[in-house]
Amino acid sequence: MAKKQDINKNNATRLLDNEPVGRTVQVVRVMGDGAFRQRLLEMGFVRGAKVTVLKNAPLQDPVEYMIMGSHISLRHSEAAQVEVTDKDAAFCDMEDAYNGTVETAVAGVDPLADNVLRVVLVGNPNCGKTSLFNCVTGAKEKVGNYGGVTVDSKEGWFNVGGRRVQIVDLPGTYSLTEYSPEEMYVRTYIRDHHPDAIINIVDAGNLERNLYLTTQVMDMNIPMVIALNMWDELEKSGDKLDIEMLERLLGARMVPLTAYNGHGVTEVLQAAMDAIDESEQETHHHNVNYGPLIEDGLKELGEMCPDLDRYTVLKIIENDQHALKLLERQENAQEVKDAAATLRQQIERNYNDDIVSIITDLKYGFVRGALAEVLTPNPDRATGETKPGYSLDRLLTNRWLALPILLVLMWLMFEATFTLGAYPQEWIENGIGWLGEWIGSTMPEGILRDLIVDGIIGGVGGVLVFLPQILILFFFISLLEDSGYMARAAFIVDRVMHRVGLHGKSFIPYLIGFGCGVPAIMATRTLENRRDRLVTILTIPFMSCSARLPAYLLLVAAFFTAHQGLILMSIYLVGIVVAGITAIILSKTLLKHDKSQFVMELPPYRKPTARNATIHMWSKGKQYLQKMATIILAASIIVWALGYFPRHEGQTPQEQIENSFMGQMGKAIEPVVAPLGFNWQMGVSVLTGAAAKEIVVSTMGVLYTGEADADEESAPLKEKLQTATKPDGSHVFNPVVAYSFMLFILLYFPCIAALAAIKREAGTKWMVFEIFYTTGVAWLVSFIFYQLATL
Ligand code: GDP
Ligand code: MG
Repeated sequence: MAKKQDINKNNATRLLDNEPVGRTVQVVRVMGDGAFRQRLLEMGFVRGAKVTVLKNAPLQDPVEYMIMGSHISLRHSEAAQVEVTDKDAAFCDMEDAYNGTVETAVAGVDPLADNVLRVVLVGNPNCGKTSLFNCVTGAKEKVGNYGGVTVDSKEGWFNVGGRRVQIVDLPGTYSLTEYSPEEMYVRTYIRDHHPDAIINIVDAGNLERNLYLTTQVMDMNIPMVIALNMWDELEKSGDKLDIEMLERLLGARMVPLTAYNGHGVTEVLQAAMDAIDESEQETHHHNVNYGPLIEDGLKELGEMCPDLDRYTVLKIIENDQHALKLLERQENAQEVKDAAATLRQQIERNYNDDIVSIITDLKYGFVRGALAEVLTPNPDRATGETKPGYSLDRLLTNRWLALPILLVLMWLMFEATFTLGAYPQEWIENGIGWLGEWIGSTMPEGILRDLIVDGIIGGVGGVLVFLPQILILFFFISLLEDSGYMARAAFIVDRVMHRVGLHGKSFIPYLIGFGCGVPAIMATRTLENRRDRLVTILTIPFMSCSARLPAYLLLVAAFFTAHQGLILMSIYLVGIVVAGITAIILSKTLLKHDKSQFVMELPPYRKPTARNATIHMWSKGKQYLQKMATIILAASIIVWALGYFPRHEGQTPQEQIENSFMGQMGKAIEPVVAPLGFNWQMGVSVLTGAAAKEIVVSTMGVLYTGEADADEESAPLKEKLQTATKPDGSHVFNPVVAYSFMLFILLYFPCIAALAAIKREAGTKWMVFEIFYTTGVAWLVSFIFYQLATL
């Protein structure tokens, strides 16, 4: 790579943000700070790369760009960080920096040292890792968790040549730097578990960007096989790839693969086994040759720290904080740091750029140089034309049609989940009810019977009734993700979500939240950024879920005669507003240090497979049952016991609950809820509603009518509420009290199932925060409303 000339002398530079749709320009440099800049560089925004402005989102922000054949969307504010110049400005042209590879000798290892043969899948998001994984394992996968961040890896097993091998599906990443949880995860996983082989899956139709990650994986010096996935698409496109030549240039094994239908899977696995077998002897790993200056430096530093791999040594030169931490264990740490700093200055002076860009440029140069020799694009395709697979965008992200189509699709998903799901839900409820009755009639009366029938069966029922909805919903989500539409949905609504500091991808979890918070919280997995995920998880409970509806319906019917629909809607709106305010507060206070960025790839549309969607659906269902059932069940039993004990002979159900621990607690908190206009009965209803919000109505039923099976349509309960009086003769309820009560039900304590989901996705700390925060907000909002309304 030649020294860079002073740009301003020759050509004017502009900001990418100001470029009109349709124009193609060349990248000069990316400004901005660490994580964001690194991400853009990795996505191909390197010096000299050509970018085409494709279109604005329907709400004008973000904007879709094409770079290195892939489509990336950036917000205006992000595009304003990219300096560009005319597309034919010669000084900026990228050079092919292919200098061949250097070989490192690596001592042989015994692959069975820890008794398992382990192979890991590494690749960009959407390159087909999960498809290969499902194909290989028949999807008997296990979902694993790592540390505090819930980034998934899946483990499975397969047999090849009489050997049993573990295969791990790692999260998709564009690189192995430390900037995102996924990257950290993959990097740490490889270092800690030292797998016997890496299968690096690349999208054969997008080699330039995909092989960038490969250059980093190569440096880890672990036996590697490159699976050229989407081979079917490459063949269809008419591009020609000389695999043998590319193998020689990169010094790595390559196998064409179509994970989608299983073509090439056996060959990939066999190649991985061969790589493992060879690693028993001393082998020679090929690494990117960065040219004499950097190579000499790498060698010198490598000798100073023989325990660190080439990857880490290079990162030390890049001044990477995580790599420097690994160095700390060494005695000569300071010496190495000084040497690295000197070298870094020398390199930066030589290339007239900063070290991170230099290394990224060199890696891209290496990839580009190699590809120039082996990839022959289909001569019939005009350059700069978008690839097949994007034509649906003309409709789906069309300026006028995008939002209506999105709304219709969301409505369909919602209807299917909550309307279709209502049938199996009813069967489950009936089945459970029938089981309860049957046991009730066969067992002798007593505490044990009540515990089994009301506590356990009731609790299990509370877990199971959500299952159909979770299964259906995740089937749809999987289709949306696989097809590539999920990224478009985020692209379309990002502008709105960005107003409250969130990413467009939060939109779908929120929407699901109106049905049920549990799957909504589970669906935040599609958000890559931890901060965005947390803020979304913590605000989802303010989306009024369907379990709260019975209480609203009862109260609205009983105390409002006019504008019932509007009043109901206002409750939902209050929830949305509180969620928005909470999101803004959280982004500005507790979570302000994690930066949100939009940079997102818009993958080509692909036909989703029913197989993958089904597997995804089952694994989510299993996850739900395994991880949450225990908490929900235990909590339901506790709530049941609090309402059941202490027992007294000959009490009516009404007296029983009034004298129970729950009733006593309700009376004890009466002073706290009195300023909201509530009496102790309402306090008790709110307490029992903590288990599940549907219970609010049935508790009111018991307390006011003595009937346990009251629902929102029961006329006696409605009348009892209308006529209930306080000791002083005034009415307990009036429209103001009823509204205040509805506000409280909307905002307070999410149900136990939702809390279990929050605990699982965000951790105990945030679950505890959520309990206090939501209840505090509920109290405050009801208090302000009630006090102002009764002035
Ligand atoms: P991951 O994000 O790397 O786990 O990728 P997935 O396995 O979820 O695949 C992403 C998309 O690519 C899905 O829509 C798959 O159906 C599709 N896909 C995977 N492998 C192939 C392939 O070999 N050919 C084609 N045409 N599509 C594929
Ligand atoms: Mg995947």
